[in-house]
Formats: sequence, C-alpha cells, structure tokens
Amino acid sequence: MSSPKPTILIVEDNALNLELVTDLLTQAGYPVQQARSAEEGLRLARSQPPDLILMDLRLPGMDGYAALRQLRADSQTSGVPVVALTAQAMKGDQESAMKAGFDGYIPKPIDTRTFGRTIAGLLQSKRGGP
Ligand code: MN
Repeated sequence: MSSPKPTILIVEDNALNLELVTDLLTQAGYPVQQARSAEEGLRLARSQPPDLILMDLRLPGMDGYAALRQLRADSQTSGVPVVALTAQAMKGDQESAMKAGFDGYIPKPIDTRTFGRTIAGLLQSKRGGP
C-alpha cells in the first residue's frame, strides 16, 4: 500500500478552531494529534514527533513563540516544520510569526476552501534547515 499519511499536531486552545482544523485534516486523511496548550503540545511532540505542527500563537500559559523556541532547541523536534495559526485581525502577528522563525502562517478564521492545499504545500516544503 502507499506510505502512511503525515501526522499533524494541532496546538489550539479555542475549542471550535481545534474542532474545525481537526475535521478538515481528518477528512483529508491525515492522522491528527490535539493539544489545548503549548505544554501539552510539547509533551506530544517529544513523545511522538509529528510531520507538521500547527501552532496557535495565543495560548494560556506558555505562548506559541515560547513553544517554538523549545521545539527548535530540542534535537528530537528541531526538524519539524511549525506553522503559526494567526488571528487575521491581529495584523502584526503574521509579521512577528515569520520573524520568530515559524515556517509559515495560516490566518484565522480558517479558509476551508484553501486549507487543504495550504497544508499539502507546507508538507512538501518541509524545513530547509536550522
Ligand atoms: Mn488562542
């Protein structure tokens, strides 16, 4: 059979967004891991490194920026691409996400028509290097 689909970890504290993104990815056939906080996301990423991480920037406790730094500092997870989920209303978030070293960003609210293509493109580009 064909190789297994890449696993995607979603770190998102908003229940509706988490559900929407999970549904879209599951329908597209991707195995999904869910975390509602950065701390939970880091635990999951370390125990079972995913192929892609979708990271909300604004999380209770540790935020997405701090989580990205920890992922990059850990040799087990440093090669995993991390894409920021940014609020469209917060214009500065997209710029600061790219400056912080995220591999891309997906604006919220999620555009369900383009989401699948965006994910496929991100999985193909992977991480260029440290
Ligand atoms: Mn949030």
